[in-house]
Amino acid sequence: MMIVMKPDADEEQIRHVVERLESVGAKGHVSPGAFVTIIGAIGDREQIASLPLDAMSGVDKILPILKPYKLASRETHPDDTIISTDGRKLGGSNFALVAGPCSVESEDQYLRAARQARDAGASMLRGGAYKPRTSPYSFQGLGEDGLKIMAAAREETGLPIVTELMDPRDVETVLKYADIIQIGTRNMQNFQLLSEVGKVERPVLIKRGMSATVEELLMAAEYVLKEGNSQVVLCERGIRTFETSTRFTLDISAIPVIKKLSHLPVMVDPSHAAGKRDLIRPLSLASIVAGADGLLVETHPDPEQALCDGSQSLPSDDFREYAKEVRRYVEMTGRSVS
Ligand code: PEP
Ligand code: MN
Repeated sequence: MMIVMKPDADEEQIRHVVERLESVGAKGHVSPGAFVTIIGAIGDREQIASLPLDAMSGVDKILPILKPYKLASRETHPDDTIISTDGRKLGGSNFALVAGPCSVESEDQYLRAARQARDAGASMLRGGAYKPRTSPYSFQGLGEDGLKIMAAAREETGLPIVTELMDPRDVETVLKYADIIQIGTRNMQNFQLLSEVGKVERPVLIKRGMSATVEELLMAAEYVLKEGNSQVVLCERGIRTFETSTRFTLDISAIPVIKKLSHLPVMVDPSHAAGKRDLIRPLSLASIVAGADGLLVETHPDPEQALCDGSQSLPSDDFREYAKEVRRYVEMTGRSVS
């Protein structure tokens, strides 16, 4: 149920509606908009219907929420959500360029990558310390030691860090270091993990499952939002199709489709979609024009020596040129790189 307040409804009236919802065990998620405030009522339908909501002062109308994802839907939250971390913004007119290696391999490798990303104008740093690898014999990441290296890179560059969490048992550890918690494609439907990150006060970036529909991605976001964490970013990273010329097929359509259905920012990871570095530029520029709010790109100071995903990583010279062009396209669409 969606409770649309009158344009002149005051704080007290909004609080009263939320308290009445809570009195029947439901939750009232308040979305203040430019013109009206909407309260998403989530809980037992019958209990909510038992309340005289339309008789409460300040209430304009009660509407059903038609989509299965309630809090992620634009119906309940018409304005774009803007994520804020350490002074960097993502969403609305703020575009985020997140760059860095697939994995943190050593202090030297990561700090070099971080400096190069900063010098080229990246907004944030990426890097994996807990790596979801298909083979148990592949490099699995440095764990907390890798997170410490990322924290040192943040200290030096001033750029926030985005890193993957794979296991609910590592939430506390990752929270000590990460500015944005990444949920990878393989865990998009790990519902316990989603609920756990829903309970923390840290932005969460959810990558689309490689075989998940847009609706399933939005339902994954709903798990996080339902627990109270409203700072959610979605990421299109390529899906499995019959096509074999790329590692995955980047679903460009998903960008405008999600932007229409949801208020959450949408990023694109062209690196994992393409699997090849020469495709990063065209896929990135197309994503910007299609309305993406940010890019998550793999870079490496020496891709030939990378322990993971070297062939899709941009070396630093290429990244500098790439970042310039990204900035130009972002500005062309009336936004700026945060
Ligand atoms: C990553 O970004 O490091 C990663 C493993 O991506 P994905 O989960 O999309 O495969
Ligand atoms: Mn990778």
